[in-house]
Amino acid sequence: MRLELTTEQEAFRASAQRFAEEEVRPRAAEIDASDRFPADLVARAGRRGLMGVTVPAAAGGSGRDYVSYAAAVEAIAGASATLAAILSVNNSLVAEVVARFGSEAQRGAWLRPLAGGAAVGGFALSEPDAGTDAANQQTRAIPDGGGYRLTGRKVWVANGAAADVFVVFAATEPGIGGRGVSAFLVPAGAPGLAASATPDTLGVRGLGCRDLDLDGVRVPAEAMLGDAGAGFRIAMWALDGGRVAIGAQAVGIGQAAFDEALAHARGRRTFGRPIARYQAVQWMLADMATELEAARMLVYRSAAAKDTQERSPAEAAMAKLYASEAAHRAADRAMQILASAGYRRGSTVERLFRDVRATEIYQGTSEVQRMVIAAHVLAQR
Ligand SMILES: Cc1cc2nc3c(=O)[nH]c(=O)nc-3n(C[C@H](O)[C@H](O)[C@H](O)COP(=O)(O)OP(=O)(O)OC[C@H]3O[C@@H](n4cnc5c(N)ncnc54)[C@H](O)[C@@H]3O)c2cc1C
Repeated sequence: MRLELTTEQEAFRASAQRFAEEEVRPRAAEIDASDRFPADLVARAGRRGLMGVTVPAAAGGSGRDYVSYAAAVEAIAGASATLAAILSVNNSLVAEVVARFGSEAQRGAWLRPLAGGAAVGGFALSEPDAGTDAANQQTRAIPDGGGYRLTGRKVWVANGAAADVFVVFAATEPGIGGRGVSAFLVPAGAPGLAASATPDTLGVRGLGCRDLDLDGVRVPAEAMLGDAGAGFRIAMWALDGGRVAIGAQAVGIGQAAFDEALAHARGRRTFGRPIARYQAVQWMLADMATELEAARMLVYRSAAAKDTQERSPAEAAMAKLYASEAAHRAADRAMQILASAGYRRGSTVERLFRDVRATEIYQGTSEVQRMVIAAHVLAQR
């Protein structure tokens, strides 16, 4: 069993790390403070191959494996959790979905722009009454002259501020749950589609979340992704990958919190010695380091499973669950080690402390991950 990255995976990770250090880290505080979607940085990330990491090179992507993608997301998240979340949505929830389920025409129209950063994608699954209960789609797709009319409301659509295209889920056969849900590719400028800003958020600010109102949005039959009724399955397939990426994002945030805590522990002196000399502080650092390493291994393992299996829901759920909770604890301990220096508005640890919380909520809450894992273990034993 190999536990290190291959030469190719490490080269891709290192190039993402360079981008993170040179171009992303200097912008992170401003993205957080302004809450503005960093469109220029996203375009540059696209030119670096970070918007379609696993999309085949022939289709405009980087043609890399999922482990390389996870390692790159972790590196970016260490500099800006927001940019990492933007990339995870575009890669896992939109570009990969078009690559896997799109028709030749859909791939031809959207894959190269999405994978290269010329276009941005959004994933519109959640509704006011369909968050955890995602199959409870109230948005309707009603047949209309060979196409469909979509009517309903979507909430919390990340990347929505700049998206050129959305994967929109809607019930084509209401009343039968997930089996009646279909997925559509809907351009942002479609008549009847209106976006409004979501409320101000605690963290991952600049993610450009939008609520979408669809008022009889007309799409041709060719806008459907996969077959009628396949939408929920497509969403769950996409989330297998998205959860790996959010696990990687969490590890990146947690590692950044650890790095801040370690540097502070070495430099801050009380009673005449660095606080790193006190066992109380050492044990916090030891727990952070151990849990983050365990989280990283789970994330890489789930990425490797995604590379070799059509579906890997339990691996992805374990990685996201453990990594997000470990990163939350790491940010909390970092805050304790920095104390008043961390609690100041504008300190890096203060931003990490706010950013990390979303990793336990989006792309399925921790409770949802436990449901997926429980279903898996109960089916096995
Ligand atoms: C920053 C951000 C970005 C987002 N981006 C997107 C996006 O791009 N696209 C998109 O479609 N959505 C997005 N979301 C929405 C996100 O996926 C949902 O918020 C999430 O799925 C939870 O849904 P909810 O908020 O409606 O919570 P609810 O479903 O109302 O759940 C509330 C609480 O009850 C728990 N709960 C619910 N049912 C059960 C149960 N059966 N058993 C045990 N516990 C349960 C939940 O775990 C949670 O703790 C985003 C959310 C945030 C905060």
